[in-house]
Amino acid sequence: MTNTLNNLTVLGAGVLGGQIAWHSAFKGKRVVVYDLFEESLQRCQMAHQQYAAIYRAEMGASEAMISETQARLSYSCSLADAVTNADLVIEAVPEIPETKVAVYQEMAALLPAHTLVATNSSTLLPAQFASATGRPDKYCALHFANMIWSMNLAEVMAHAGTAESTLRAVTRFAIEIGMVPIPIQKEQNGYVLNTWLVPLLNATQSLVTNGVSTPEYIDRTYMIANRGCALGPCGIMDIIGMKTCFDVMTYWGTENQDAQLLANATYIKQHFIDQGKLGLQTGEGYYCYPNPAYQAADFLAVPDMSAVEELVALVRPQALAAVS
Ligand code: NAD
Repeated sequence: MTNTLNNLTVLGAGVLGGQIAWHSAFKGKRVVVYDLFEESLQRCQMAHQQYAAIYRAEMGASEAMISETQARLSYSCSLADAVTNADLVIEAVPEIPETKVAVYQEMAALLPAHTLVATNSSTLLPAQFASATGRPDKYCALHFANMIWSMNLAEVMAHAGTAESTLRAVTRFAIEIGMVPIPIQKEQNGYVLNTWLVPLLNATQSLVTNGVSTPEYIDRTYMIANRGCALGPCGIMDIIGMKTCFDVMTYWGTENQDAQLLANATYIKQHFIDQGKLGLQTGEGYYCYPNPAYQAADFLAVPDMSAVEELVALVRPQALAAVS
């Protein structure tokens, strides 16, 4: 069988759009990255330089493979130009329904007749957007995980009107770029991955927002309880990016009238987004990069006795201040 989806357009040059674009180009696809903002495209190109280094180090990529990957990538702020040759469009714009609908509606009139469209949404359903695409039979979800080069899964979710031929082509595409397709048998917000990850991150953020524990001790707990984990949930939030964490908590907090979720979103806005700390992407979130504390050799070590006062101060700061 010959490959049919060779020309990919990625909508949204952020954390995940940038990864999907780079990885697909590395696997031989011709890719156009589209974003509304020139500065987002520039940030994406800088991220692609970092991915080149990662693919050299972790994927054994040669200089020739990196140059070929770069040659297959282009970047555009024009939606019409970006989709003109697309066989497949993967949408990775923010997790805000109105934004996704607006992009789909603008794109509908510009797409070639044969083009398939997939959403990379983490928590929203293809049924929510199928009609906005103007081609519901050619539309489904194809959800990738952050750090696509090592977390190589792609969740495939249909809505009632998705054609089988679309699912077949999109599943083939996922395999061609080295993903393990995860078939989702019915529409569910969060698919498989985010059905457990989002509640974990919400619970973690509640612990921080409500002052129950600190990010580092929460992550220590998680990493000790799940021996072998390279990081904990606060580290995961940095990798996802604070903007997307905020969007997901705001949407679901509003939808479910969940005051704790909305407080968590406000915490993230005030402590991170308003200060330009978007997580790994900008070098700082809960941790500072490139050497986050959770990667230190002694992060999970039993502390020295000299740490006792500091630990007690975290449990009962007022009492300790009164004594000293
Ligand atoms: P992001 O905020 O990092 O990037 C979004 C990009 O979209 C930005 O570059 C922004 O400039 C651009 N954008 C905003 N409005 C736009 C518009 N109207 N038209 C075109 N571009 C526009 O977000 P992200 O983390 O990459 O998430 C994107 C999607 O991928 C979301 O649906 C999210 O749920 C999903 N996703 C994210 C992760 C993750 O770990 N970050 C993982 C899987 C799926």
